[in-house]
Amino acid sequence: MTDPKLNGNAPPSPVSSIDEFTSTPFDFIICGGGTAGLAVAARLSENPSVNVGIVEAGKYKIGDPLVDTPATFMHMFEDPEYDWCLYTAPQPGNNNKVHHIPRGKLLGGSSGINYMMYVRGSLQDYDDWAALTGDQGWSAASMKRYMRKHQVHLPYSNKRTRSNMRVQTLEPINAASPLAPEHHGTTGPIRTSFNDALLPIEHDFVKACGATANLPDMPLDAWSGDHIGFYHTLGAVARTGPNKGKRSYAGREYYEANRSRPNLKLLCEARVNKVLLDGTRATGVSVTFQGTEYTIRASREVIVCGGTIQSPQILELSGIGDPDVLDAAGVNCLIENRGVGANVQDHSLTVIIWSMQPGTITTDTLAQVPDAASAAAKQYVETGTGPLSSIASTQGFIPARSILSPSELDDIVQSIRAIKPVSPFHEKQLDQVVAHLESNISANLQLVFLPGTVDKDGVEHQRDLFRPPPPGEPVGATAALCLQYPVSRGYIHIQNNDPSTPPTIQPNYITHDADVTVLAAFLRWADKVSHASPLNTSIANRSLPDPSLDLQDLEQAKQAVRDVVVGEYHICGSVAMGDALDSRLRVKGVEGLRVVDASVFPNNVSGNIMSSVYAVAERGAEIIREDWGLV
Ligand SMILES: Cc1cc2nc3c(=O)[nH]c(=O)nc-3n(C[C@H](O)[C@H](O)[C@H](O)COP(=O)(O)OP(=O)(O)OC[C@H]3O[C@@H](n4cnc5c(N)ncnc54)[C@H](O)[C@@H]3O)c2cc1C
Repeated sequence: MTDPKLNGNAPPSPVSSIDEFTSTPFDFIICGGGTAGLAVAARLSENPSVNVGIVEAGKYKIGDPLVDTPATFMHMFEDPEYDWCLYTAPQPGNNNKVHHIPRGKLLGGSSGINYMMYVRGSLQDYDDWAALTGDQGWSAASMKRYMRKHQVHLPYSNKRTRSNMRVQTLEPINAASPLAPEHHGTTGPIRTSFNDALLPIEHDFVKACGATANLPDMPLDAWSGDHIGFYHTLGAVARTGPNKGKRSYAGREYYEANRSRPNLKLLCEARVNKVLLDGTRATGVSVTFQGTEYTIRASREVIVCGGTIQSPQILELSGIGDPDVLDAAGVNCLIENRGVGANVQDHSLTVIIWSMQPGTITTDTLAQVPDAASAAAKQYVETGTGPLSSIASTQGFIPARSILSPSELDDIVQSIRAIKPVSPFHEKQLDQVVAHLESNISANLQLVFLPGTVDKDGVEHQRDLFRPPPPGEPVGATAALCLQYPVSRGYIHIQNNDPSTPPTIQPNYITHDADVTVLAAFLRWADKVSHASPLNTSIANRSLPDPSLDLQDLEQAKQAVRDVVVGEYHICGSVAMGDALDSRLRVKGVEGLRVVDASVFPNNVSGNIMSSVYAVAERGAEIIREDWGLV
């Protein structure tokens, strides 16, 4: 089951045999050992009297270099060893392109294949959750505790290593955002840190963005719930200890650290087919392992943690969902719940790509110069530092309002007001989208700087997303321009009653014109950044959008957005609290069944969502313990 080559000197695999697993009397069964699932399992099994079983479809990959090495994540995309290899339905807003959606299929789930950027939502995001769920437990004031609980922030050192790409030591990374300890955990499992090496172009980018945005000030701590401004972000990477330079993710930190608990059992390479119901009560799950179907019982609860795509799939296969959807798929509807699979949202992004002047160093240089690549590999192996231990760290946020004219903003708001909401929940969401657009302090737009060349056709096959130009050609750099509160909504529904058939994934990227317009205005703004000092001295020309387009013309910029748009990997909301679930994460209409993962977000948050998923899991585990008197 586990490849011994990958584990080096690691102790024997902790994965249970099917016989051991099926004969254990579990209190709780966790369906999906991913980002949230492993956090919930770890917290529940802190109580030694509680038996917790994790069923994970992917493999046990602890110690796998592709998972551990921060710079190699894209090599896992579209490899079924690591990725579910899922694809969207044709995207009507993007010339009917079919997008690849990477999702981690391994112990640790998507935290094992993601980009590791560690970002928090804005305070308003969690207050919006509280408003949508009617539960102050999801407010910003309450969520701060769970943010700190899952994280440990390592001390930042001003001593920067010299990268093998000849990067000089630059000014301290925390100059723009010195951290305030009150916002950061000291004992949580997920380690966060800054990159230990930066490229000059990354500093220049921050300065050019700051100058273009003309921001009067920067946040004191961009993890405080106020993250407007431009800076170098944290990553989920360990910088000290035996795992120095390695990805810090749920597999290693929530599961592996607790694997010796006798009351925590793990079954890998096993698919949950459905939740078993006795009337309206969940009693266990049907699981397929090595081609045979088994029943696993849970005396207290089944907790579905399959992620935004598979959690609604598991519920629908169990007969819980919209009767029309289930009927069309040949599944008997046992519990009507029209929120299941609805309300799907993702941050949508477009890109601007530049060719750089000769002599500029970007990550393309590593691919072009064999000596640079081998030096970086040597540095990583010997010291756990340098470019291979780095994440895309340069980013920032601005309010949408700051880049729209009053009449543009007015037109966008009117177009949203014209939408007929499908439910009171949807109506509240749309009110929140409008409030973010009208706000002077909403971090509505995120810019992520990728210091390398991106291939726009990589949206269809993300393994090809980063495509450095051949040696001798100018290196490139990319800005991803990401909309945080889109209007467009999609759905995820089963196609038939076969658990091995992926569901239909329809995120409906930029199907509403308001989303296209805001992203076009962001392109217009980013075009100005490229002319700002000191970045302008490094940029030779724009390679995408096509240089023939005038990005200062909003209509031409909209054309560019429709041509290139992709999800920011932050798909959520498909089993939303306040809609499909109550605010204690219980599936409405069912006892003994909860969902805990990104699918429960009632609305998306600003920035990358992993920290919010961990926080949801921490709070979810606490709620479950409270409800069972296990505190
Ligand atoms: C490529 C990529 C890059 C990203 N980059 C970032 C980033 O830089 N920063 C950030 O903050 N966020 C990032 N994200 C988002 C973030 O990682 C995810 O939102 C988060 O990890 C989702 O957690 P989850 O628990 O909802 O789902 P997952 O972590 O995906 O967990 C679901 C688990 O359930 C398992 N499973 C599914 N179906 C079944 C079944 N039927 N039976 C058994 N097991 C099943 C899966 O194998 C998986 O292990 C990225 C995501 C991706 C995919």
